[in-house]
Amino acid sequence: MYLKELEINGFKSFGKKSSLTFTSPISGIVGPNGSGKSNVAEAFRFVLGEQSIKNMRGKKGEDLIFTGSGSSLGRASVKVYFDNSDHVLAIDFKEVVIERAVLRDGTNEYLINGAKVRAKDISELLSGANIGSSGHHIISQGEADKILQLNPKERKSVIEEALGLKIYTLKKQEAERKLDKTAENLKEVRAQQKITAPRILYLKREVEQIEKNRQMKEELRALYSIYFPHKKSLVETLDTYKTKREELHSKIREKEQEIEVKRRELENTVSESGVREKAEEFEIKQQELNNVRREKEALDRELGGVIVRIEILQDEKQKKQEQESEGDMHIKHDEALLESISEYIHELWSTWAHTLMREENLSEDRKERWQKRFIQFKDLPEDEKEVDRQKSIRILSIIHKQVPKHEVKFDSALYERMITNKSELEHKREELERQEQELARLCDELDDGRDASQTMGQRVEIEILKTEKELADINGELQQVQMLFSEVERRIATYDYEEARARGHFGEEVTQFFNAELSAEQEMLNISEKITRLHVLLENGGGTSGSDMLTEYQIVTKQKEFIDKEVLDLEQTTEALTKLIDELSQQIESKFKEGLETINKEFAEFFQTLFSGGRAEIFLTDIPVKKEDESDPDEFELGVDISVTLPNKKIRGLSMLSGGERSLTSIALLFAMTSVTPPPFIILDETDAALDEANSKRYGDMVELLSKESQVIVITHNRETMSRAGILYGVTIGVDGVSRLLSINLDKAIQVSK
Ligand code: ATP
Repeated sequence: MYLKELEINGFKSFGKKSSLTFTSPISGIVGPNGSGKSNVAEAFRFVLGEQSIKNMRGKKGEDLIFTGSGSSLGRASVKVYFDNSDHVLAIDFKEVVIERAVLRDGTNEYLINGAKVRAKDISELLSGANIGSSGHHIISQGEADKILQLNPKERKSVIEEALGLKIYTLKKQEAERKLDKTAENLKEVRAQQKITAPRILYLKREVEQIEKNRQMKEELRALYSIYFPHKKSLVETLDTYKTKREELHSKIREKEQEIEVKRRELENTVSESGVREKAEEFEIKQQELNNVRREKEALDRELGGVIVRIEILQDEKQKKQEQESEGDMHIKHDEALLESISEYIHELWSTWAHTLMREENLSEDRKERWQKRFIQFKDLPEDEKEVDRQKSIRILSIIHKQVPKHEVKFDSALYERMITNKSELEHKREELERQEQELARLCDELDDGRDASQTMGQRVEIEILKTEKELADINGELQQVQMLFSEVERRIATYDYEEARARGHFGEEVTQFFNAELSAEQEMLNISEKITRLHVLLENGGGTSGSDMLTEYQIVTKQKEFIDKEVLDLEQTTEALTKLIDELSQQIESKFKEGLETINKEFAEFFQTLFSGGRAEIFLTDIPVKKEDESDPDEFELGVDISVTLPNKKIRGLSMLSGGERSLTSIALLFAMTSVTPPPFIILDETDAALDEANSKRYGDMVELLSKESQVIVITHNRETMSRAGILYGVTIGVDGVSRLLSINLDKAIQVSK
């Protein structure tokens, strides 16, 4: 590759388009002070990508645009043409044209072969060919000893570039920048990861619960489809019970009415027949009858006594008569007496027994005994009655016989009184008997009437009782039905409650549950328990439907996946970059050490040539790293230092060198550097300014030596240097402030440069 041409248009003093072609290994640019020679060197810097305006002696981009009298150019541009037949520049073009323009607003345009590119692209392309904007191959005016002025770190950097390590350092810097950026990103992403982690954990738990809830709701839905259809049959049952209840109610009403009617009937029966009055009257008449009977009995007893006295009196009268007549008739008479007494006793006995039987005050036991006796006597057959009568007669006769025989006395007055008494008593008795018969008839009559109404009342009462019993049965049945009704009602209420709960979960869908197929009843208890359990679980699990939560969870999960992947990518990038930086550092270090040795060899030779002896060396040195916080004062970095020993002089430090000596040392080092890794071209802007004649000659020799590997462009006022150039350009500046170029020969060049 070689440098073909430089085209300057509107850049600094080059107000008009000018171009320089570099057809010779050494090109010289000559001209008076201020004509614009250094502007040519700066045009090189500019087009090769110099970013420091200060390095081009300006403050801002606009300062680089020509500002001659009456001119108002909008832009300054410089083009450089390379022959790239050997493809030193890593681009598939035989000729490469790099162009840069700056506009008044300070913006820059970069082009490679007419295509717009970034400054970085140009920098990368050129660094591969060991050239750059501010490398050692462009030595600006007054910078001849720049390499000596630099600090060890900067010097190391220049040497690295000279050794062609810039591409590596650029790569390394870029890798470091990327690593910093990656670390920053990683920090940010990890912070995001930390922020999202608890949210994701919370959402995960929520979503799991939502999923559980969903499953439970599914289960609940299935259970409801079994549960609710049963309500229909319950409602039907309730209706049946309702009808039944109404039926029973109307039956009850009927029965109650029936009872009412019967009660009224009963009341009527009782009042119509005057049962109560009759019963009372009966009681009274009965009492009266009893009194009459008791009176009659007493009368009978009295009468009996009177009769006995009469009979005794009669007996006495008869005995008196017998005593008077003494006849056999005595015994006969006695027998008749005995017989009459016996009959009387029987008669008396019978009446008494009968009366006693009617006596209510007597105990049942006594009544029974008397009755038995009465029946016994009454029912005795006639012959036995006769035996009994005979027995009585015998007993009486014995009694009679025991009676001592005495003088019979007879009181006829008493007898007469007794007869009257008897007749009075008999009359009374008849009256009592009539009363008794009348009362007995009345009692029977009353008794019969009472019995008849009692029978009717009893019949109605029985009917009432029967109806009441039926009513009680119906009431019992009603109670039973009511109980079942309430039970079904309670169960329906449970369904209604459950329906309300179900609507909370399923809304209108609940209606469908009722239409599901009816299943076996025995499952119901189990199902109810399951439903209740699910409700409890659903309540405990929270009531969110969770669609928002689910969407957020999905979004956040995706974010998390993305962040996780990013973290992984960044970690991998960090690893790769760290590895790349290590590799590049190692490459730079090894190549640097290698290059340093070669440079040292050349440096020593150039130095000896220029100074006719002496020694010079560059070496690596540790320099403390300057840090703002001085946290680690022991941290060092590498730099490059120079040691020189001049012949016949005891000078060791660089600071002790004269201006010329500094230039010579600097030139020796620069030439050593360029000879190790020759750049395609070198621009030396008055590097020879401080040299005396002898050294100018040596300088000229070295330039020629360098021009074997690199094209050399010298800007000079030095005749010796001019003499080495194959082509010379003269730069002039007119009154219009525009620099102009002209190709001239050596003599003319000497003339021009004056
Ligand atoms: P010397 O031999 O003294 O070093 P030189 O030939 O190198 O001189 P330069 O330094 O290249 O001269 O040119 C300086 C000239 O360029 C000055 O006259 C300056 O006015 C002119 N110049 C610089 N910038 C501009 C600009 N933007 N527009 C017009 N002229 C400019």
